[in-house]
Amino acid sequence: MNISLSSDFANAVPEMAVSWEAVPVGEPELLALNEPLAAELGLDPAWLRADGLPFLVSGKGVAQAYAGHQFGGYSPRLGDGRALLLGELTDTEGRLRDLHLKGSGRTPFARGGDGLAAVGPMLREYVVSEAMHALGVPTTRALAVVSTGHVVQREEPLAGAVLARIAASHLRVGSFQYARNTGDLDLLRRLADHAIARHHPGSTYLELFAHVVAAQASLIARWMLVGFIHGVMNTDNMTISGETIDYGPCAFMEAYDPTTKYSSIDHRGRYAYGNQPIIAEWNLARLAEALLPLFADDEDEAVSLALATLRTFDAHFEEAWTGGMRAKLGVSGDVKPLLEDLLALMHENHVDFTSFFHLLGKAARGDAEPARSLFLDLAAIDAWLARWRELKPDGGAMDRVNPVYVPRNHLVEEALAAGAAGDMGPFDRLLKAVTSPFGERPGLEYFAAPAPQDFSATYRTYCGT
Ligand code: AMP
Ligand code: MG
Repeated sequence: MNISLSSDFANAVPEMAVSWEAVPVGEPELLALNEPLAAELGLDPAWLRADGLPFLVSGKGVAQAYAGHQFGGYSPRLGDGRALLLGELTDTEGRLRDLHLKGSGRTPFARGGDGLAAVGPMLREYVVSEAMHALGVPTTRALAVVSTGHVVQREEPLAGAVLARIAASHLRVGSFQYARNTGDLDLLRRLADHAIARHHPGSTYLELFAHVVAAQASLIARWMLVGFIHGVMNTDNMTISGETIDYGPCAFMEAYDPTTKYSSIDHRGRYAYGNQPIIAEWNLARLAEALLPLFADDEDEAVSLALATLRTFDAHFEEAWTGGMRAKLGVSGDVKPLLEDLLALMHENHVDFTSFFHLLGKAARGDAEPARSLFLDLAAIDAWLARWRELKPDGGAMDRVNPVYVPRNHLVEEALAAGAAGDMGPFDRLLKAVTSPFGERPGLEYFAAPAPQDFSATYRTYCGT
């Protein structure tokens, strides 16, 4: 078998594609393979495990150029410092998907970095992205993690790995910032034409922007509906497709608190849970600036078109968030006051986000005690439950949207630590739990429970990914 790859990106914008080859690996060992995804891509899992293994860890491709605002500060040249786009493949449904390696060695964009990745962070991206997919959140997918035999020097020496990743595309807000920053309007136009052909055929440039605004607004709402915090929403980590990308210092919130952040480098909480919509909108304003010359020849007109489109963000977000919350509460109609009061109560009582909505399904079926017991202020939650019950919640429908199993931070850490030490058992068990997140299954209680208090109080994820 052979993998047939196209080079649409490299052909469309050769100035943004540096031909490169992955660093040779010593002893590749397959740590995780996504068989259902392989099948979706028309790849034989048995072949990938044997003769096809080199495709998951090595090969020729391009390092993609992009710029980006990182924590608000602009870098005109970031790019794939340790990653390669091997090319695009056509899946069994005829869709074009990027095949991309992460941790494949230094490229001309590596700056001071070593171009490598350690086993732990690549397994983190694998399990969290696959959990997000199972939760119905648009995301890049993990095809495989292969350990390389390289030693990666971080705070301590770690085993190296390569992640093979699949995406609708790797076009980012930062890709457009890069093109715009070159001052080459023809390049900007070719990049936008490529994005349109790939994601929204037939659209105008302004329609492309409108699609991205809508996709990002809905994406952030979906993140928040499952308690997800991306952690590093720099413009180079925000896709044009609307897929979640780059799982670094990400985490699932436990006790509800909009100021929650886990990233060790996000000192000011720029990317905290509740800030995510505003940051996404800020990033989209940067995209609008980059695309401006394509909207209209007259700059004032271009700005007013961009602003009018950007302003649709709030309505898209509101619709996705409120609609999603209605589903989580199992009710229809106006839930706004009910929801505000609930979130305030959850905040005051430090209530676990995932557990509450899951247990609320039981309350819809008559057993309110498990959900109730998460609160200290019983009178307040009883009053709230009484109001909610008047809306005749549908417990069955709630169970289909409120997950029982999400990759909780302590479970992920445990699985990664074992994986890095050569035991993939905990990772495999966690992956099984979180890739079927809905509906309680016997024997999996461990994966539904919140972290021990002392763990939650001190947990941070590190960007040394
Ligand atoms: P991130 O915030 O992880 O998405 O990465 C930001 C930038 O740093 C991108 O340009 C990455 O390619 C680059 N980068 C991150 N880690 C490394 C590394 N170990 N070696 C080279 N480049 C890296
Ligand atoms: Mg990135």
